[in-house]
Amino acid sequence: MDKRDYYEVLGVSKTATADEIKSAYRKKAKVLHPDVNKDDPKAEEKFKEVQEAYAVLSDENKRKMYDQFGHAGVSGNGPSAGGYGGAYTNFDGVDFDFGDIFDSFFGGGFGGFSGFGGGRGSTSRAQRGSDILMRLDLDFEEAVFGTEKKFNLDVVEDCSECHGRGGFDKQECSTCHGNGTITSEQRTILGSFMSKTTCPDCKGKGYTFKRKCSECSGKGKVKENKKITINIPAGINTGDRQRVSGKGNPGTNGGSNGDLYIEFVVGEHKYFRRENDDIYLEVPLTLTEAIGGCKKEIPTLYGNVKINIPQGTDSGDKQRIKGKGIDNKFRKNKGDMYLIFKVYMPKRLSREQKQLIDRLSVTDMDTNETVDFNQFTRKNA
Ligand SMILES: [Zn+2]
Ligand SMILES: [Zn+2]
Repeated sequence: MDKRDYYEVLGVSKTATADEIKSAYRKKAKVLHPDVNKDDPKAEEKFKEVQEAYAVLSDENKRKMYDQFGHAGVSGNGPSAGGYGGAYTNFDGVDFDFGDIFDSFFGGGFGGFSGFGGGRGSTSRAQRGSDILMRLDLDFEEAVFGTEKKFNLDVVEDCSECHGRGGFDKQECSTCHGNGTITSEQRTILGSFMSKTTCPDCKGKGYTFKRKCSECSGKGKVKENKKITINIPAGINTGDRQRVSGKGNPGTNGGSNGDLYIEFVVGEHKYFRRENDDIYLEVPLTLTEAIGGCKKEIPTLYGNVKINIPQGTDSGDKQRIKGKGIDNKFRKNKGDMYLIFKVYMPKRLSREQKQLIDRLSVTDMDTNETVDFNQFTRKNA
């Protein structure tokens, strides 16, 4: 079974306050408690769903993780790669007690629940598979303009031959008569007693198949090396994630697969520097270009543009080229481009250049905003 959205489970909005969440949970818990829904075979499942939703949404940190990453962010099993979600992986399930229902708890797959009667025990409960996190490198341009990526991945999916059942012609297990468990007498030195164990023939399911599926050897699942194709929108940055539904680890007992999360790592560009959706480019200027101003052809993400650099441009001065940053389809944002100028001082002058500079210095060029050091030295003498 697919996990429902926690907010949907509690029937509250994504912006609900802690009090609203608590109150919604109390109401739901009262209505859905298995003790008052003995006729509903799904009561236990529904009640646990509410419990799980509340456990996450009532905890500020877990709620934040959930808002950001979905079920993967708070999954007890945790994605297996990259240590992601590790904060919760060691949190064991807590035994359920109605008196404690308002206490916050969180358990990996809720394996700790055992108090509910009537079922066949936890072994046959459908459980969703855990999520997988994978890192994927992107070139600077691929991230800026978006791209399509293909890669191969081993995916365990329902066998198409038997539709995940493992066999054909279902029949009641003759060993346990459909109970899933068998009761046997155990003799010990303290005497004999009756013990209940999971049926070895049907593994607790209560049924067997007349004909085992040969495609999956009765497992109901097959592992296949699948080609996964993902479309990456323009504007992806390092740390952004994309979800590929159902390509995570396999579920158990008919539970659905977890999801695959792809986290991107974006490479650097030789000249362009990226800051969110803005692009920065250092533009070298010669001394005469800086003093006299000039027209220059500048590379942008979208081809060259001609720009006017004003007289007296100094190192560190910035110029904005509007709309030439990243057109981010992922965040629906459009960045700008910034030029940062750097003036290169000539280290050696020819005789002619030196003469020209000397001639420049006799004009009133040097009198602008200069400090009179004579004043300074006299004071300290
Ligand atoms: Zn099969
Ligand atoms: Zn059986």
